[in-house]
Amino acid sequence: QNSLIWFRQDLRIHDHPALVAACDYAKQHNSRVYAVYFVTPKQWKLHDVAAIQIDFIERHIQALSTQLAAIGIPLQVVNLADFDDILPWLNHYCAKQDIEAIFAAVEPEFNERQRDKKLIEAKLPLTLIEQDCLFPYGSVLNQSGQMYKVFTPFSKEWKKQAASKAITPLKAATFDKPISEPSIDAFVYDHVYQNKVSSEHWPVGEDAARKRLKDFAEFLMADYGAKRDFPALDATSKLSPYLAIGVLSARQCVTAILFYFPDALINDASPAKTWLNEIIWREFYRHLLVAFEHLSKAQNFNPLGQAIAWRNNQHEFEQWCQGQTGYPIVDAAMRQLNQTGWMHNRLRMVVASFLTKHLLIDWRWGEQYFRQQLIDGDLAANNGGWQWSAGTGCDAQPYFRVFNPMTQSSKFDADAHFIKQYVPEVANWPIKHIHQPHLHWQSNNDASTGLFSQNESILYPKPIVEHSAARLRAIEVLSALKKS
Ligand code: FAD
Repeated sequence: QNSLIWFRQDLRIHDHPALVAACDYAKQHNSRVYAVYFVTPKQWKLHDVAAIQIDFIERHIQALSTQLAAIGIPLQVVNLADFDDILPWLNHYCAKQDIEAIFAAVEPEFNERQRDKKLIEAKLPLTLIEQDCLFPYGSVLNQSGQMYKVFTPFSKEWKKQAASKAITPLKAATFDKPISEPSIDAFVYDHVYQNKVSSEHWPVGEDAARKRLKDFAEFLMADYGAKRDFPALDATSKLSPYLAIGVLSARQCVTAILFYFPDALINDASPAKTWLNEIIWREFYRHLLVAFEHLSKAQNFNPLGQAIAWRNNQHEFEQWCQGQTGYPIVDAAMRQLNQTGWMHNRLRMVVASFLTKHLLIDWRWGEQYFRQQLIDGDLAANNGGWQWSAGTGCDAQPYFRVFNPMTQSSKFDADAHFIKQYVPEVANWPIKHIHQPHLHWQSNNDASTGLFSQNESILYPKPIVEHSAARLRAIEVLSALKKS
């Protein structure tokens, strides 16, 4: 009567109710706990999981295996193709290892939920535990018992519930004396993914993530509200890669907030308010994904979105992907994504707005490209962010608000420190031209200024669209979203 813990997007041993449940079951039955992780590259490809995120997961699986061996649990990595292979494998394995109970954490995405539903219908002894958000899906509801469609009332209700409960993450699971660490199979995905992408500049492991959280809460959280929008500053937590694969839990984040700012849930003037809100945005989008299944199926949240006549120019899309739009702030952001697998939140909003509004390219193209590059790729947050930017989403940016990339540039990267790091071609331009690149071309056409040599100018493209015209075009096309 052994038990099995099936790890998914929860690669930790602290604050892991499903792992604790598997251990408790085995303790009651005086039996063993086994652990498993399924590598499903075909499924990942279908979901556009970035190669850098897979590498990050693989490194964490190694770390997790060491942690689990120290508490007497052997972890096995199983290379399969996709979700359909899991049932036969588990049936065989459970019979072989005398496993009578399987524990796993609930995942909010539609395909994952369908997979679990099928496994339970096939009579697999699978117990699913909600641990992904602070509160179970469907439990943060408005007065009519419906999921909120606007963030602020959701966050108020969420805080009210949080303030009325003790928020205590579970301690690290314990089970038995250490065993020698099993050899872990390497992930096999090179038949589906052409290149591996190293995630080595992100430290691995729960200790690293928890230390980052502690340092952030202690030293940076209070200034987060004032500094979070400036990409040249290291002012955000950079915890997203860890939260996305569950090396850290949201409950641990909230506990850290309350440790340093005990009244954060009830005091709107708390210095921790803004960061707490980010954690609640994460929860909001996850609850939405469960409440509205069509969000997992690449559909507009707002059905009026179907009527938008996207231009979908393939060449312009390529230029956006490569960071060659001629708007230095947009290009620096896209190059940050391509080179590091991460992008600052302000810039995610800027480039998403630029793609969907200035270029009128379907948000799904951008969403997919992000997913393919991001180390913190997460369906709920990514879909939420893209539909917010495009104006098609729940509680979205109105369709007629079009970020001006030039204003965003001068406001949030005034001395162009960030831009120059990723777009060295413009490093010698006057600051004003970096923010307003059309000025560079106007001056450049005027040979008498002699400011730029011919060669210098061809290094970097002219702006792909003119802002004012693109803005008007966007408002006209996106007025399809106007409520009649
Ligand atoms: P911090 O600012 O320190 O925030 C702390 C944590 O809160 C983050 O790690 C993240 O887990 C959560 N969070 C913050 N902002 C948001 C938000 N707007 N929505 C949901 N959760 C949030 N975040 C992802 O984790 N994965 C994605 O795939 C993703 N795609 C995005 C796409 C677009 C178009 C936009 C506009 C935003 C996207 N975000 C995504 C949200 C946000 O940009 C990142 O979470 C944030 O930049 C990560 O950096 P950080 O860890 O330093 O965040």
